[in-house]
Amino acid sequence: MDHLTAGGCLCGAVRYEASGELRNVTHCHCADCRRSAGAAFVTWASFWQKDFHFMKGETRELEFAGRLRGFCPNCGTTLTFRSSPATDEIDVTVASFDEPAKVWPGDHIWVEDRLPWIALADGLTVYRRNRSEAVAGNS
Ligand SMILES: [Zn+2]
Ligand SMILES: [Zn+2]
Repeated sequence: MDHLTAGGCLCGAVRYEASGELRNVTHCHCADCRRSAGAAFVTWASFWQKDFHFMKGETRELEFAGRLRGFCPNCGTTLTFRSSPATDEIDVTVASFDEPAKVWPGDHIWVEDRLPWIALADGLTVYRRNRSEAVAGNS
């Protein structure tokens, strides 16, 4: 049986389910994620778009810098990210999962934007920008 991940927003207007393996579970420290979520960094997991479905309601997507960020239209919870309208992947906020504690992030990305008062001490791989660039080490 496929692994099923369920979650939703704070107010309950948007609920989703995703099947298949979680890929690229990462803490993103980029300035856009930070501001859009109103949080120091955002933890994402990637699913194939075909495996992701809204069970109740749906996000309102905002296009910014060519990327699509999805929020609950009622309560504003940050839920999804797509790199373009045509992409076959969707990133979902791990903190909106019903069981986020079962998920273990694999790395940190965009640490060049990291706030100085966030100390990384988890030993995970650290990327200065995205995962295709050189490893910066953990410090
Ligand atoms: Zn909501
Ligand atoms: Zn980001």
